[in-house]
Amino acid sequence: MKVWIFGLHGIVSTTAIVGAKAIEKGKAPKVGLVSELSHFKEELSETVPFEFEFGGVEIRETDKSVYETALHHWVLNQHFDKDILEETKDQTSKIKPKKGTALNCGNAIRELGRVEALEDSGLTLKEISEKIEADITDFADDETVAINVASTEPVIKYNEEYHGSLYGFEKMIKENKKEFASASMLYAYAALKNNIPYVNFTPSTGSSIPALKELAQKTNTPHAGNDGKTGETLAKTTIVPLFSYRNLKVLGWMGYNILGDLDGVVLNHTENKESKIISKDGVLEKVLGYSPYTITEINYFPPLQDNKTAFDFVHYEGFLGKKMKFYFIWDGIDAILAAPLVLDLARFALYAKKKQQAGVIKELAFFFKSPMDTNIYNTHEQFILLKEWFDSLRSRSDAGSNIGSRVWKQDGRGFAKTA
Ligand code: NAD
Repeated sequence: MKVWIFGLHGIVSTTAIVGAKAIEKGKAPKVGLVSELSHFKEELSETVPFEFEFGGVEIRETDKSVYETALHHWVLNQHFDKDILEETKDQTSKIKPKKGTALNCGNAIRELGRVEALEDSGLTLKEISEKIEADITDFADDETVAINVASTEPVIKYNEEYHGSLYGFEKMIKENKKEFASASMLYAYAALKNNIPYVNFTPSTGSSIPALKELAQKTNTPHAGNDGKTGETLAKTTIVPLFSYRNLKVLGWMGYNILGDLDGVVLNHTENKESKIISKDGVLEKVLGYSPYTITEINYFPPLQDNKTAFDFVHYEGFLGKKMKFYFIWDGIDAILAAPLVLDLARFALYAKKKQQAGVIKELAFFFKSPMDTNIYNTHEQFILLKEWFDSLRSRSDAGSNIGSRVWKQDGRGFAKTA
């Protein structure tokens, strides 16, 4: 399969690419991959084998290869064995990004280095959108998935006129209303319009607005998001149910996160941090059914590089009103936790397309902090949902996996429905 990555030079992206190539060569184990659990493994090895070709989009270091940027991340983080990087150099040095857009991504992006974005040469929204689409369609075949792992954007205010319907969204593009569009929306639009499944691993808007959900339905394309659940929130949504099951009342939850690296630089900006905090904070109420007092903090701590440490303190009430405390520390390497999920999501999203599932795949909630179109935030329930969904698709025929794009192209009026 092919994977088109928005944010190709980031540490999550480069770790996923290097890791995939190392596994393909038999140089690394498949530990950490959900798709390689026994429940999914055999079926996926036949329908969506573990073989990847990568391409994608960047807004910095667009002349550099994935090998060069992976090496840069490695020098700072040493997040895996250096031999793995060198043994995959032949493949990764051939992958270079196309230029993307940084539209409404905030000032934080400019701190990542010299930004080279499509809009810098004065292109209109329509021209930017067409260029993004041309690049993805040049690369894509019927077995391609697009994944957003670009830096977190500031929250963009919902606008009913331009975000509420596909007609309005396309009007926004035509009328060059740049202030209402963000990079993640334009990327999702390009993928979904061309029947390419889209996954949003970030808290940015992506495909979550009604306009793009409508588009996905019209082109019969699956999509999923938002914001990969990889560390503290994964631990939190796995532990919180303990309090519910035992009828213990959570009074307060404090989560204090520190991280370095580029993600830390971006999240150090209040406007970019806001979407991440909403994403992390919201899970408690969803799992418990009530809102305890919460403090959620994320702070930039440069010496940690890609290591993220979260300190969590839980104050809860038990029998006879007695108050007690529970603490945990999550100490993880962000990219090592996230990269395998990018590969998992690519395979599950293509599997969904092959089984002719369209629209939001809410059953992939297991992978996200803010899963779209579901209220199931409990990790245990999400895992059961994932397995049941997979079993139900397995029993479907996969004939016509590539029907969507073909029919769309044949139909001169635009979108056509496939059964
Ligand atoms: P990173 O800063 O290393 O990588 C982001 C990359 O995106 C950079 O190379 C940057 O230049 C590029 N970029 C920024 N804006 C872009 C745009 N508009 N178009 C194209 N490229 C753009 O960050 P990372 O640690 O790899 O994380 C990537 C994303 O995944 C972040 O949004 C992060 O919040 C999200 N995420 C990560 C984890 C995890 O690492 N465990 C978990 C959940 C979500």
